[in-house]
Amino acid sequence: MAEPTPSSLPADRLVAAASADGSVRVTALTLTHAVEEARTAHATLPVATAALGRAMAAGLLLAHALLKEPDRLTLRLLGDGPLGAVVVDASPAGDVRGYVAQPRVMLPPTPAGKLDVGRAVGRRGVLHVSHDSGIGRPYTGSVPLVSGEVGEDVAHYLTTSLQVPSAVAVGVRVGTGGVVLGAAGVLVQRLPGADEAAVADVEAALSRLGPVSQVAAAGGTAQDLLAAALAHLGHGAVAEVPLAWRCTCSRERTARLLAALGAETLDGMIADDGGAELTCHFCGAVYRFDAAELKALGAESNRSAGDDEGRPVHGPDGPAPPEP
Ligand SMILES: [Zn+2]
Repeated sequence: MAEPTPSSLPADRLVAAASADGSVRVTALTLTHAVEEARTAHATLPVATAALGRAMAAGLLLAHALLKEPDRLTLRLLGDGPLGAVVVDASPAGDVRGYVAQPRVMLPPTPAGKLDVGRAVGRRGVLHVSHDSGIGRPYTGSVPLVSGEVGEDVAHYLTTSLQVPSAVAVGVRVGTGGVVLGAAGVLVQRLPGADEAAVADVEAALSRLGPVSQVAAAGGTAQDLLAAALAHLGHGAVAEVPLAWRCTCSRERTARLLAALGAETLDGMIADDGGAELTCHFCGAVYRFDAAELKALGAESNRSAGDDEGRPVHGPDGPAPPEP
């Protein structure tokens, strides 16, 4: 049977429900379209596509399971592998964005013929998970990486740092031309008071199902993953969230960042380059400002005091804007 083409797959969605007996909560998603958009935005090669896609799936699963709007969750995998940092920012409302420091890395496949995400991320390093409400300092929890395979690392974070026994499966299937054929994830969390076997039972059901990325590539939905995971236990009401590759950057925010640099710095940019070009790390968007625009921002700069969008933006042709 021919597989569906990626563009004909169902829209990206997240669903979540507790088992009928209240022992576990399962969150499942398919993310094929968003991971393909990320690949296009950053021109990632397959192993980077897989690492970024797995992190995007994990970030959305955690954001939905742990946070309430308008908080956001940032996942940073800082391993010793050639990809460098893998960074994802996700919201409980279903927005996700992210990047890989070295998107063009190539590695030979594993002996089993799979993309070697563990080696690409690195098996030594740290996973940081930050929750940011936009007020005050973000909360950050950190654990050492277990394998660099992302799913195991995030499960380790939940189990040790948050003391919630959990299982995480995230996967991305990449086709021969580099196109994303399927991306999906499932998070299983043991609910308070439930016995040890509950998570293992759901994990067993998922392993019988096979790789989640293949379920997505074959046209399976998040609801299909949830139903398979809770086939024995049954489930109650299902929460459903549409998912999208979406960045919070904008021309206005970038302009405010520039204004915060002050007239003197902006005059320097005009003298050196005749303008400024800033690229958003998260989504690859490029914002260009000509000399007249920089002049106007310089005049404004006494009234401006920075912005909340410092991290993803850097100026390749000028000094980096301040970190917030
Ligand atoms: Zn952006």
